[in-house]
Amino acid sequence: MTEEKEQTIKERVSQLQQQLNRYAYEYYVQDQPTVEDYVYDKLYGELTALEAAHPELITPDSPTQRVGGMVLKGFEKVVHDVPLYSLNDVFTRSEIEAFDERVKRALGDQVSYVCELKIDGLSISLKYQDGFFVQGATRGDGTVGENITENLKTVRSIPMRLAEPLTIEVRGECFMPKASFVRLNNEREEAGQGVFANPRNAAAGSLRQLDTGVTAKRNLDTFLYTVADFGPLEADSQSRALAELDRIGFHTNPERRVCQTVAEIWEYIQEYHEKRIQLPYEIDGVVIKVNDFHQQDELGFTVKAPRWAAAYKFPPEEAHTKLETIEWTVGRTGVVTPTAVMTPVFIAGSTVSRASLHNMDYIEAKDIRLNDTVVLYKAGDIIPEVAQVVLEERPADSTPYHAPSHCPECESELVHLDDEVALRCINPKCPAQLKEGLAHFVSRNAMNIDGLGPRVLNQMYDKKLVKDVADLYQLTEAQLLTLDKIKEKSADNLLRAIDASRENSLERLLFGLGIRHVGAKAAKILAENFGEMEQLAHAEKDAIIALDTMGEIIADSVVTYFANHEVHELIAELKTAGVNMIYKGPRLQDVAQIESPFSGKTIVLTGKLTHFTREEAKERIEGLGGKVTGSVSKKTDIVVAGEEAGSKLTKAQNLGVEIWDEAQMVTAIEGSNTTDEN
Ligand code: NAD
Repeated sequence: MTEEKEQTIKERVSQLQQQLNRYAYEYYVQDQPTVEDYVYDKLYGELTALEAAHPELITPDSPTQRVGGMVLKGFEKVVHDVPLYSLNDVFTRSEIEAFDERVKRALGDQVSYVCELKIDGLSISLKYQDGFFVQGATRGDGTVGENITENLKTVRSIPMRLAEPLTIEVRGECFMPKASFVRLNNEREEAGQGVFANPRNAAAGSLRQLDTGVTAKRNLDTFLYTVADFGPLEADSQSRALAELDRIGFHTNPERRVCQTVAEIWEYIQEYHEKRIQLPYEIDGVVIKVNDFHQQDELGFTVKAPRWAAAYKFPPEEAHTKLETIEWTVGRTGVVTPTAVMTPVFIAGSTVSRASLHNMDYIEAKDIRLNDTVVLYKAGDIIPEVAQVVLEERPADSTPYHAPSHCPECESELVHLDDEVALRCINPKCPAQLKEGLAHFVSRNAMNIDGLGPRVLNQMYDKKLVKDVADLYQLTEAQLLTLDKIKEKSADNLLRAIDASRENSLERLLFGLGIRHVGAKAAKILAENFGEMEQLAHAEKDAIIALDTMGEIIADSVVTYFANHEVHELIAELKTAGVNMIYKGPRLQDVAQIESPFSGKTIVLTGKLTHFTREEAKERIEGLGGKVTGSVSKKTDIVVAGEEAGSKLTKAQNLGVEIWDEAQMVTAIEGSNTTDEN
């Protein structure tokens, strides 16, 4: 090789090492990746190949020599007795065949594999002493991780106590379900904060919180898949170990399968490649592991990964399209958000033409400009996101995009409050904010007034029939008939729906008022505890903070809201219009006194229910003093199994938990209600 060529390779290797280390820092430490995983994987593949051909260029800090992340400041360090490894990636069927051949060359032909879903979260290691959870840590660099015990205690699927008094160490993935990810990003965007690129980064960001209260609200979940220290547990294979983990109280992923041949492995991969969109959590591939532990030991590890496993990565689902324009819309709280409007393209199961660009920082970081060709993907398999710009296709006359200086709706000047990334319109009379406020008031989780879609509300507002939510209760049939496409029948229905909403319990009204930081859940807790609007309106900040799960931010927001003179006027108007101001559900102290088959018990609902919806059943049981949780453990008292109940039922049977069918539950609920009413 010529000297010149050698020099070029050396430079490329060093450049790749630096670039990948920077990406790894953004991904593992900041939880804010700036490139897609497949971009990282491609560059990583290039580096691995170059280093294999030129081993003298491998440096100790090359990303190929390190397992994943780093240890952060702010958390105590934990030295892992058994290191945590990464996995070698494979991307094609022929790479799986090559893996299978390598394995069989070493072990002979008698090999079976376990295929598991590759959950897109972050690895955690959990230690139990005599059955009690004593320590939880991140993977960190594989040898040293961060102590996140207190944060992990807030994750409900992690048992605090095992079914048996075992001293063991287990490992698995902590992740954020897709639905929680979507909700979290919506809330963050609405609150003017930055958003997470994907559920994995959201989970990592949520676990590495110095305030465990934040972690607790993030709805994290876990799947365990490795036993690092068996203690007295016995298992001679991965499939057996998973069954044991399940039995002693952990969440394990039920979608695993033992496969004998590459053809079977490939079938599993194809099957889950199709199903991944429907799964409630994000997966980025399939992990293939040699099943037998003796065989695993024989194969051993490289510096970075086990030789007995391979991670198949799904190809990225992405599409190229043109950014036609950027629309700015004003939300209920005044945050002004940009949306990319693109030429429609089909991606991961649906046609997409719009994607939020979140805020100006996001647009600037990616240097997104009008008429650019952009790469689109779906975060968490659901939310369309612009990944990056295809620079080669940028028009020659392109210029950087500038943020608007004035509100697209009311033209008042936009501002950044405090350190927010978001732009805000702070004009309290901005029509867009008022209209959004009305839409929120009538929405399903708030006052639930059917028939008042944005089209009708906008007309009402524009015709000056309503300027705030109290005006809704003064509407007459004659006024409604002046609106486009509203005939007598729909006017009647609407008036009836508005009328019915007067009877709603207090929490709906509280949520509907749109008090900053008060979501449906917080509204319920406030209503339950204060009972009446009047009581809450005069509540001290400390009385609110004293409630379970209420923090300073919500308390401040509620007190500030009710300090406003106009708020009192609005509430007085609503009251005069006959809107109920009292909580109608069971008060906490009353619930404690109800004697029912559910009192003080932990109940899990699974399978399809026919008599009630899940939500209704949960509400009724909680009203009767029971607690409804999502996962089965030793602590579960009753599992109600509807039709087609699956793994939760099996787990309940294994743990010997009492099992009811739906009819038993209905009888218990209805029986208790009669007693209650007497
Ligand atoms: P990996 O993707 O190579 O896989 C190993 C990890 O898979 C394990 O640590 C474990 O946490 C997880 N896993 C999930 N389900 C599992 C199961 N059933 N069994 C065993 N393990 C399971 O992970 P890594 O080493 O953390 O990271 C490398 C990957 O991270 C890269 O391939 C890349 O996609 C991504 N990355 C991206 C960027 C970026 O900037 N976008 C930067 C760094 C890394």
